[in-house]
Amino acid sequence: MSAYRDGDKVVVMLPSRLSKAEEEQWIATLLGRLEERERRRRPSDADLETRARELSRRHLGGRAVPSSVRWVANQRTRWGSCTPDDGTIRLSTRLRGMPAWVVDYVLVHELAHLLVPGHGADFWALVAHYPKAERARGYLEGVAAAANLPLDDSDDELADGLRHGVAG
Ligand SMILES: [Zn+2]
Repeated sequence: MSAYRDGDKVVVMLPSRLSKAEEEQWIATLLGRLEERERRRRPSDADLETRARELSRRHLGGRAVPSSVRWVANQRTRWGSCTPDDGTIRLSTRLRGMPAWVVDYVLVHELAHLLVPGHGADFWALVAHYPKAERARGYLEGVAAAANLPLDDSDDELADGLRHGVAG
């Protein structure tokens, strides 16, 4: 028995010997599980902020303190960005549904920018405290390549030099 999404439909697989009542009960159970699974893969802004604080504590000695962390849909060429002046971090909604350790990497990357601007050796030394940083960069490069997006990992900084991002 299973339930999965196929485009905008949900497909529920059940054995044919079930009674009508059992069938309805199983459909409700399987849909509940599907929603729970999707919720876990699509953290809310509040989940994201909690996660960022935890990652800062665990990998950056708690020194990076974001004022807000949220999803944005209008970030087409970057996975994440931040404004060190006010401590805000934004993550592209394109990351939603990717493995948690990849989303964590982008959070750590942006958190590190709250401490070190640009992509110098000291910046990458900080990011390297997150054990899956290299693997996650490879993952995102693969996604970008598959989607035919720009591959370089450099910042696409605005003229004011305040915003940094992981290009994707
Ligand atoms: Zn960056």
